[in-house]
Amino acid sequence: MATKKVKEQARKVLKDIFGYDVFRPMQEEIICNLLDGKDAFVLMPTGGGKSICYQIPAIMREGTGIVVSPLISLMKDQVDALTACGVKAAYYNSSLKAADAKDVLERFEAGDLDLLYVAPERLLSKSFLTKLETVKLSMFAIDEAHCVSQWGHDFRPEYVRLGELREIFPDVPMLALTATADEHTREDISDRLKLAKAKRFVASFDRPNIRYLVAEKRQPLTQILQFLEGWPNASGVIYCLSRKRVEDLAVNLQRHGIRAAAYHAGIPGRTRERVQDDFLRDRVKVIVATIAFGMGVDKPNVRFVIHHDLPKSIESYYQETGRAGRDGLESEALMLYGSGDVNLVRRLIENVENIDQRRVEVHKLNSMVAFSEALTCRRRVLLGYFGESLDEPCGNCDICLDPPDTYDATEFAQAALQCVREVKGHFGMGYIVDMLRGSNNSRIRENKHDKLKSHGSGADLNADEWTSILRQLVHHGYFVQDVSKRAAMLATKKAEHIGTGEPIILAKYQPGIRRQFRRLGA
Ligand code: ADP
Ligand code: ZN
Repeated sequence: MATKKVKEQARKVLKDIFGYDVFRPMQEEIICNLLDGKDAFVLMPTGGGKSICYQIPAIMREGTGIVVSPLISLMKDQVDALTACGVKAAYYNSSLKAADAKDVLERFEAGDLDLLYVAPERLLSKSFLTKLETVKLSMFAIDEAHCVSQWGHDFRPEYVRLGELREIFPDVPMLALTATADEHTREDISDRLKLAKAKRFVASFDRPNIRYLVAEKRQPLTQILQFLEGWPNASGVIYCLSRKRVEDLAVNLQRHGIRAAAYHAGIPGRTRERVQDDFLRDRVKVIVATIAFGMGVDKPNVRFVIHHDLPKSIESYYQETGRAGRDGLESEALMLYGSGDVNLVRRLIENVENIDQRRVEVHKLNSMVAFSEALTCRRRVLLGYFGESLDEPCGNCDICLDPPDTYDATEFAQAALQCVREVKGHFGMGYIVDMLRGSNNSRIRENKHDKLKSHGSGADLNADEWTSILRQLVHHGYFVQDVSKRAAMLATKKAEHIGTGEPIILAKYQPGIRRQFRRLGA
């Protein structure tokens, strides 16, 4: 166990080198665990303060800490910041000129580095592995660990081999860190990196100062201008799906006198750097961007994030909206939701060749759609997706602020439960809806499910009404959708309480999605 003295030393490093007085939640435990030489798996939201969790132990422990990161630009930023604080840090990736790379390797071999940031493909090259074995290592930190998983939202093939590290270096503690992982992805990360025995540190993913709003996409430009009126002079980011939309929207906003700039991967590097810098220095107020924007942009006072188009997954949505309000002050996340976007994404997914991959993407899209059309507290749905439950509705989302009408849906929940049980947890939501409605489609007949009691037990409701009910029951935690089994509906432990006294109150189904967003304070 880390002693009191060690804790004091860690606190001193925090103060002397990073200039902070106190640790954030979990940081100290994670640091002490690593100082004890043990593995850890850290799940902490963006902005939670993950970097310090490996930087401090690397500084304190003997030897060099190896940090694996997929993002070259981020490595440079971190190393620059550390060097400015007097920490001996360097990076080793394809952006280095040959002479600089040689220099870094020499320092590494001489034991002159506390931290070395390495791109994964470099790390696992034969020549580098040989070097690793000759140098004293303090730890491995695998940043953005979800990149190792195909279930995650940012799979990178070069991450897959990282699992070998655990075998080659059994005595060097390993820390895996990620901001975005549903339970399934977490299991996968831990399998692939061989961290089954690692202690898990899970910080809350709630960002209470962000107000979540979803509005039906009608005239996006008008809607965005209207929204911006509520935020005069504030900084914000607007995400669009394509470069073309980014450029069109930026020009349109400029025409309306808004200091907006476009950002996407097709814009020359120099210009992109300038735009980013102008934004950080408040010369540009609104960045209109593709998802290329944001990695490593640490601007505390972003007041709003708008999604002009549907994000590709809940993880992406959470990460992108998470760029708002890092200073803890009230902020807003607005998503414009249109069925056109959903169909577009569906068509794109149909072209994915790998069946498993396609299945994952369909599930991610469906979860995103369910979130957008939710009639339950948005925060509850969002946190639920990450395996966290919220005791009370949040009071700071469009649903909480303007709740839909509700009714006692116990009877329907019972029917749904009976059906899910009868088909034995092997079928998805669409199938359950068809069953309840008493459809005689070929799949149901082949499975002889038209003989089951639940077949047709909910014929009074139409398919949209049933879908709404089932989604809400998932959001409330009575059912889950198992991604590894084609999103089959499964009853949870909570479902055992259906029909045993407490009525199940659900929101009345309304076609389309509702109303306008609200203003902060309105
Ligand atoms: P993450 O990697 O989890 O997104 P970072 O490590 O980039 O988060 O940290 C986010 C911000 O919080 C950074 O500006 C960092 O300097 C700051 N930070 C981290 N730990 C502390 C702390 N204990 N006290 C104050 N600020 C902190
Ligand atoms: Zn809410």
